[in-house]
Parts: sequence; structure tokens; C-alpha cells
Amino acid sequence: MTAIPADSSTPVVLPVSKAVLWLAGTTVLALILYYFIGIDQGATSVFGNDMHVHEFVHDARHFLGFPCH
Ligand SMILES: [Zn+2]
Repeated sequence: MTAIPADSSTPVVLPVSKAVLWLAGTTVLALILYYFIGIDQGATSVFGNDMHVHEFVHDARHFLGFPCH
């Protein structure tokens, strides 16, 4: 009978192509979130002069220390 060490583990194998997709997707989503929370306001707003996105994330914007008003 062979004893199996208690700390034996199987490494997680993640192909590079799949890792690149996950990293790129996460980066794009993070940048979109960063833009809408921290930058989207006034002249830089994606939706023109509409303030709905800005007002929706307004508290998060202040909480995270982004300049606002
Ligand atoms: Zn504000």
C-alpha cells in the first residue's frame, strides 16, 4: 500500500490562449466600469449631455475619490 501525502495537489492547467481571452475580457470590462464610474461626465459623456449614468454611479464616484463637483 502506497501512502499519499496529505499535501498532494493537482496543478490547474490553463492554456495560454484561454488565459489571454480571460485577461483581455476582464481588462475590457474593468476599463468600461472605470470609465462609467470615474470619467463619464459632461463633455466626456458617451451619451451626450445625459446625466443618468453619472447620477446612477454618483455615490460610488464620491466613495472612490474621483473628482466630481
Ligand atoms: Zn458629486
